[in-house]
Amino acid sequence: MRLKCHNCGTGVDFDQPPKEFVCATCGAVNVVPVYKGTSDEELGCIAPTGFEWQLPAGKIGNPVLGFKYITAQGTQMTREEYLATFKIDPEVALQYMRSHRGVRFGGNV
Ligand SMILES: [Zn+2]
Repeated sequence: MRLKCHNCGTGVDFDQPPKEFVCATCGAVNVVPVYKGTSDEELGCIAPTGFEWQLPAGKIGNPVLGFKYITAQGTQMTREEYLATFKIDPEVALQYMRSHRGVRFGGNV
């Protein structure tokens, strides 16, 4: 069957549809909807529920060289790249997570 990236619209063929996959074209995480019946149409995927997957998993660097933020998928990005990719300020997100201990992210809910 053919799945369609929710972010860039690229179609990807799968023999066995996964529950989720990362688009090779744009890197977006796609959640595959429950497959109902047979269809030759492309199945449009959706963004993961919640925004946990967009939250930074960590921060590296120092004030001299600059900081980089690590995405839930393990990619290192500058603040500008993070903002452009997720529309989230990673610094704000990190501070939010630190001030809300017990907030789960990155795992299965
Ligand atoms: Zn894509």
